[in-house]
Amino acid sequence: MKQIVVISGKGGTGKTVITASLAALARNKVMVDCDVDAADLHLLLRATIRERHEFRSGKTALIDRELCTRCGKCRDICRFNAITPDYTVESFSCEGCALCSYICPVKAIRMEENLAGEWFISETRHGPFVHAKLGIAEENSGKLVAKVRQAARDLAKKNNLDYVIIDGPPGIGCPVIASLTGVDQALIVTEPTLSGLHDAKRVIDVARHFNVSVSLVINKYDLNPEMTGQIENYCKEERIPVIGKIAFDKAVVEAMVAGKTIVEYSDSAIKSELIKIWEQLKEG
Ligand code: SF4
Ligand code: SF4
Repeated sequence: MKQIVVISGKGGTGKTVITASLAALARNKVMVDCDVDAADLHLLLRATIRERHEFRSGKTALIDRELCTRCGKCRDICRFNAITPDYTVESFSCEGCALCSYICPVKAIRMEENLAGEWFISETRHGPFVHAKLGIAEENSGKLVAKVRQAARDLAKKNNLDYVIIDGPPGIGCPVIASLTGVDQALIVTEPTLSGLHDAKRVIDVARHFNVSVSLVINKYDLNPEMTGQIENYCKEERIPVIGKIAFDKAVVEAMVAGKTIVEYSDSAIKSELIKIWEQLKEG
């Protein structure tokens, strides 16, 4: 089983459009959306949820008001001022350190696991799909990414699938690291701007740190030929293969509006470029 992640270093580079096209082109694979903070691949793939699972992470103190004698010890010890004068715990302030539960003389405080989000196994017209939704203001997106990746690998093993194709989260933080570790290949999607190059460099450094082999695609390359040249020069110096250059085409937006991937929607030059990209990823 080969694991391929598509990342960009930041949002808005057309990464999801490219991942969705790979979903349409690749056979015998499971798709994964690791952008658990703002998942959107399910919209493009029109996913139908088949399995729904709770994601629990971190703990919050809970006071049993029947047992509580209002001695005030827990309020005194809580560094985060999470316990109100009427002895309820404000979940947004509680850091889950459990100190209050240790100090309570009548054992009125217990630590409860937080429901931090949900993850799903769905069906799409392009095969199985694993995705997730992190709760509002919840952290631990790295843990949830690890969870969906594990579920996708299990599914691939169980069904003898050849590929796990991962739509990575933006940035270079913890969720990106969780989506990169242990993959065989990272496809970096960038656009021809100075910030695009800067973000691509940062995410390439992270991928290389984890010994992941890297290739790159320049999206909307024709909008700034000079910057495209600079990105290609950088890749040449760094021995990073540029496996595709996608031109700007309003058909990409039209395809999204029609709820299709660009390779299903149009027989344009973009489609042949995306087929070429997939062929090289398979071989890489
Ligand atoms: S330490 Fe225990 S008994 Fe004292 S106020 Fe807090 S919850 Fe109530
Ligand atoms: S678990 Fe820690 S942060 Fe939360 S209420 Fe108790 S002492 Fe405060």
